[in-house]
Amino acid sequence: MSKFSLHGRTALVTGGARGCGLAFARGLAEAGANVAIFDIIEPDATFYNIEKDYNVRTAHYKVDVASPESLENGFADFQRDFDNALDICVPCAGINRHLPFLEFTFKEHHDLVSVNVLGLYFTAQAAAKQMIANGTKHGSIVLVASMASHIAVRDQLCSAYCGTKGAVRSMCPAIAKELAQYGIRINSVSPGYVRTEMTAAFSHLLPKWESEAMLNRIAEPDDIMGACVFLASDASSYMTGQDIIVDGGVTRW
Ligand code: NAD
Repeated sequence: MSKFSLHGRTALVTGGARGCGLAFARGLAEAGANVAIFDIIEPDATFYNIEKDYNVRTAHYKVDVASPESLENGFADFQRDFDNALDICVPCAGINRHLPFLEFTFKEHHDLVSVNVLGLYFTAQAAAKQMIANGTKHGSIVLVASMASHIAVRDQLCSAYCGTKGAVRSMCPAIAKELAQYGIRINSVSPGYVRTEMTAAFSHLLPKWESEAMLNRIAEPDDIMGACVFLASDASSYMTGQDIIVDGGVTRW
């Protein structure tokens, strides 16, 4: 079987109802995985096609990753429905706020940290516990960081967001060190500008963003998906604690 195949594996994607998370869910399913998503919103209509398009099992759970209770209940439901199976976890749920550094309030920053850092961290932790308990030989966690953890994103006032994504990237190798003994790998993906709801309000900046990328365009969610599927699969079996930047070359010139 191809090292890229995820046939027979089970994946969990948070923030999988739309945007990058939905593309990751579809990509993992295309490679053969059953896919569950956690999100606070109802999934895009296309999510419901995944099951028949790729002959895999899918499920959606209404879960707020920023709430410990909601996360715990979500994992309990997911474990019950999927018989404790879990090989791949992609904590992707994230939010952004655009405010000047001098105007950010404690509350606004706290909201960002709750979803982007705590929600992601405790999703990964619960997933790792489940993988250890079920004894998977293919445990892989793919955190979603951002190009914003590598550079100060031009034209956007998102210092708090940059900080949360920096936290994601720097926690990754530290967690990798602890999970290696269980055969579980953890890496991150850092997308550049991607056309999703998160960037929709910045359409006026599109020409500038396109010109900042060597490839002269911004990404579609599917452009980021390949790195996620690769890191989820055995094709990346000797990678852990790493970050893959998928930004069309923005951070390299
Ligand atoms: P998006 O807004 O389209 O999708 C985010 C998803 O997360 C939504 O479905 C939303 O409902 C869900 N979500 C938000 N808060 C949640 C919560 N508390 N619990 C559960 N689900 C929650 O945005 P996107 O661009 O697809 O973002 C996905 C990830 O990619 C985020 O982590 C984001 O920071 C990251 N990212 C995006 C870009 C970009 O340019 N769009 C660039 C780099 C990184």
